[in-house]
Amino acid sequence: MNHKNFHSLPIFVIHKHQASSLHYDLRLEEGGVLKSWAIPKGPSTNSDIKRLAIQVPDHELSYAGFEGVIEKGYGAGPVLIWDTGTFENIHPSHSLSERLEKGSTTLIFHGEKLRGKYMLIRIRLSTPHSWLFFKGDDEHARSDYSITDEEPYSVLSGKSIEELTKR
Ligand code: MN
Repeated sequence: MNHKNFHSLPIFVIHKHQASSLHYDLRLEEGGVLKSWAIPKGPSTNSDIKRLAIQVPDHELSYAGFEGVIEKGYGAGPVLIWDTGTFENIHPSHSLSERLEKGSTTLIFHGEKLRGKYMLIRIRLSTPHSWLFFKGDDEHARSDYSITDEEPYSVLSGKSIEELTKR
């Protein structure tokens, strides 16, 4: 069957993570794992703003449901599910892995916060594994809105980073 079934779409999650510095982790389901990028400033809905995204090691698929406090070690601190949903790879003849290998992909997000087209493009910098993540120009693009400031809470629990750390 060639038709894409909505229920068979892969999932994405964006964790908001207060480690030594606050950042957002974009995770995309592909091949049974979560391809992952740390985005220091988080996503933007403004198609003119390109955000640095550093690719980090794949995470286990089960980590997509994690919200809580990492107690010790690398990344210690609270993590909340800032957004989640499904996404589509719009390139019909290539898998997401193939597109990532090529260094650019366009994805359609069906999240609670992120909707529509987003791009991931690899860039060459002194920092390895550097990508840009940014909004495609569509009806969901908004230049007059800071989605990370206006919508800071978990889509799972409604909690803030501060509330997660309270016992
Ligand atoms: Mn992180």
